[in-house]
Amino acid sequence: MKRIEALGVLADLTSSHPVIATCAATSRELASVKDSDNHLYLLDAMGLAGSVATGLALSVNPSTPKVVAIEGDGSLLMNPNVLPTGGYLAPPNLLLVLLDNGVYGSTGALPTYSPKVDLRRLADAAGWTTRAARTADGLSAAFAELLTVEGPAFLYATIEEGNAPDVEKLLVDPVSLTGRFTRWLREVHAVAEAAA
Ligand SMILES: [Mg+2]
Repeated sequence: MKRIEALGVLADLTSSHPVIATCAATSRELASVKDSDNHLYLLDAMGLAGSVATGLALSVNPSTPKVVAIEGDGSLLMNPNVLPTGGYLAPPNLLLVLLDNGVYGSTGALPTYSPKVDLRRLADAAGWTTRAARTADGLSAAFAELLTVEGPAFLYATIEEGNAPDVEKLLVDPVSLTGRFTRWLREVHAVAEAAA
């Protein structure tokens, strides 16, 4: 499964969910598959998709569908504290999808630690409910299963190396991306301005 294929599956499954996407290739490939008001692209904020999603999950109206973070292995390894923090705070409505290709895909495919450091086991040890997937169908099935979980949920998806060709850089001002996302949260899920 290529990253863009996984993102296509996730975009279809998350149209009513707040989605926080990690920077660089993941954000721009997601935007190329489907650009939507419920997407918050973090652009240069590497390592923070899980942190933003955890804070948001603790803030939103309880009727809001699960907050979904889409993270990469290099980015999660930059800020692995996401796992103990999410496990400790344990928001019931947090789902982190890790797309693991074993490399820093946006910067020349240098290897990450993930072939030797089992990020699913780290999440499990920190109290997350975990599932794994290697195919598009497996990703859909694991996502559906994790939607039923009360507590932080972690979907470990193995993807192939390589970026989708001819995807434009995402050069939108982060302030306008944040404004669009918070307007969507307020209008669709009645999240108070202070919480958004
Ligand atoms: Mg990677």
